[in-house]
Amino acid sequence: MRTAIYPGSFDPLTNGHLDVVQRAAKLFDRVVVAVARNEDKHPLFSLAERLELVKKSIGHLPNVEADSFEGLLVNYVVRQKAQSIVRGLRAVSDFEFEFQLALMNRKLNENVETIFMMPKDTYTFLSSRIVKEIARLGGDVAVFVPEHVQTALHAKFAPGTPL
Ligand code: ADP
Repeated sequence: MRTAIYPGSFDPLTNGHLDVVQRAAKLFDRVVVAVARNEDKHPLFSLAERLELVKKSIGHLPNVEADSFEGLLVNYVVRQKAQSIVRGLRAVSDFEFEFQLALMNRKLNENVETIFMMPKDTYTFLSSRIVKEIARLGGDVAVFVPEHVQTALHAKFAPGTPL
């Protein structure tokens, strides 16, 4: 059983994340989308909300599940009996941080491999941060996130107004 962990803040999940999940699901027997608590990043959505949005987005993928974690990622990977970490690479700007993270995780546990996946080119400009900024300013994020994520963003930024 080859299991991969796809960790991230997912604040909130976007179509770019989903693209990576779908690609990973073809390569591994089991993929766990692992929502990091990351309170120090002051997420817009609570951990429970982020997890729920991920769960609703992966229902159509039988070998994908969602979970949350805190603490060291490599320890979580071992607890899940996984062998790999999946991360998305959008552009060269992601590379330096991701390279550092991957090598540090290898130092902490040399049995865990990090795999990088490139999303469809139309998602390379997409980030949770940009989606939140557009939604906060009242812009349309329908093409960037699943419908229920759009509804959740709307509820955060314009509570009480009809969708
Ligand atoms: P983190 O806070 O750990 O970076 P994110 O939720 O922002 O968490 O991202 C999780 C992973 O998904 C990271 O590897 C990030 O590079 C990747 N990712 C984010 N957006 C996209 C996208 N549009 N296309 C591909 N990968 C993405």
